Amino acid sequence: MKQFLLILLCSHLAFSQVKYPKDYFRSPLDVTLVLSGTFAELRSNHFHSGLDIKTQQRKGLKVYAAAQGYVSRIKISHFGYGKALYITHPNGYVSVYAHLQKFSPAIEAYIKECQYQKETYEVEVFPSPDELPIATDEIVAFSGNSGSSGGPHLHFEIRDNAERPINPMLFGIDIDDSKAPVVSKVYAYPKNKNSYVDESKVRKELRLIPSKNGDYSVEPIEAFGDIGFGIVSYDQQDLATNKNGVSNIQSFFNGNKNLEVDFKRFSFNETKHLNRYIDFEIFKTKKSRIQKLFIEPGNTLSLFKDVSDNGYIKVEDSTSSVYKVRIRDFKGNETWLSIPIKGKKHKEVLEGESITPKHYIFKDQVNELSDRNISVYFPSNSFYDDFYIDFGVKSDTLILHKDIVPIMKNFTINYDISNYNDGDKSKLFIAKLYGYYKKPYYVRTTRKGDVLSARSKSFGTFALQTDTIRPTIKPVNFQDKKWLSKHNYLKVKIDDDLSGISNYRATINGKWILMEYDYKTDLLVYNFADNIIEDTEHNLKIIVTDNVGNSSTFEATFFRK
Ligand SMILES: [Zn+2]
Repeated sequence: MKQFLLILLCSHLAFSQVKYPKDYFRSPLDVTLVLSGTFAELRSNHFHSGLDIKTQQRKGLKVYAAAQGYVSRIKISHFGYGKALYITHPNGYVSVYAHLQKFSPAIEAYIKECQYQKETYEVEVFPSPDELPIATDEIVAFSGNSGSSGGPHLHFEIRDNAERPINPMLFGIDIDDSKAPVVSKVYAYPKNKNSYVDESKVRKELRLIPSKNGDYSVEPIEAFGDIGFGIVSYDQQDLATNKNGVSNIQSFFNGNKNLEVDFKRFSFNETKHLNRYIDFEIFKTKKSRIQKLFIEPGNTLSLFKDVSDNGYIKVEDSTSSVYKVRIRDFKGNETWLSIPIKGKKHKEVLEGESITPKHYIFKDQVNELSDRNISVYFPSNSFYDDFYIDFGVKSDTLILHKDIVPIMKNFTINYDISNYNDGDKSKLFIAKLYGYYKKPYYVRTTRKGDVLSARSKSFGTFALQTDTIRPTIKPVNFQDKKWLSKHNYLKVKIDDDLSGISNYRATINGKWILMEYDYKTDLLVYNFADNIIEDTEHNLKIIVTDNVGNSSTFEATFFRK
């Protein structure tokens, strides 16, 4: 027995006590670190995989390699990380730098060669260890706002050799933080029809009572059966007002720990389960992210520790108990929330009759719905629960439930368009309609004969739209037939109203040129430093195509010595 315990103890230690080197990595910037985002904080459909470091509201700050190593990956994309650099270090860790403005001259030359070779702005390459070696303290890039970034900042990550992101602060990256986390909402969740809180069988918000020392409590609740709780919380650090994520949450029932959520490390294939961890319906309807301190079926997140009864508590009749939550930031500042509970069994609880819709979804099965010219196909295991789905078709509009259910896999929507004129068919696309005014947004649509298909991962209203209007192309900093010898850049604005821009191609005197596209400003920019042009007179030609194939051509002549 003793031996068994020892083995158990050792394996537990080996699993949980990964030693991260504290002095190995330096800060990637030479300014005081201020964060606009912490590790594993809750984002849309994912946990944040790194630190978002503020760059003084500007682009162009020097970005240093966190340690010596080699460039193992460069990825440039219009969305996502924008311009991103990956450095592999001799100790097996990989540091990642994203939303960059540009790379250091050596890396910039390397990647431009790839771009000119492939004739695309978007590229992804994996250099070998001897191609771009990186020295200690080397400047590798300049910070920016590229890709899906909402303002200038550096996104910095450290990943282990299994591609799992780890909180960089575990490696000694230090941030001033003396403030304890804040709790802004608390909810109780009866688990099933035999449990209730204050006579409610569904989630119930409890009124928070802040105390002077920063902790919280609520009025005693009356409850019975299996109950879970959820909180909305954030952490502010010393040098900014950003509401960042917390680093650890623990819950206790009558002094016994029943759940811990520890945001130290995760893997990218589990990050989607964020939508199961938060109360997805509340997030979609009220924009508030409740972290549920209980684990429902299908939630396989590795962030949970020391779980008993999946985090639920069992409240018995005529008992007095207390549920407590301890919320901590990385620096160990902590806030407590306590919920006094009186166990009280009601004689009976009224249950409202509900009208059930026609269509039922079984989570373990393939589900197909169809009506007239529209069908929807869900692969098996797309959902966490079985449920009744709203499904309605009205001419070319598909009402597919409400966007309040987390979906793990893409589903496919098919429209039969054989009733359209042949001329119109090629201009049709499937759109998702948003908001009160039902504004259409293009969903990537493919056509096979008379069937249009689109894939989506969220419910809502979909409709067919027609786009017959070509993209627009307008010069920003030059005019036709002028001398541009002093220009460093050519800037052009491109736009497409309905289906959106699919691709663009620019040439000077017939040779492909690299134009960087920023979808946030609609700008295409060519850098004369690329040195592609030789003669004096130049013909610039840009072709822009939208998502249904309408295209526009812009041509201009300019002179340059
Ligand atoms: Zn980030």
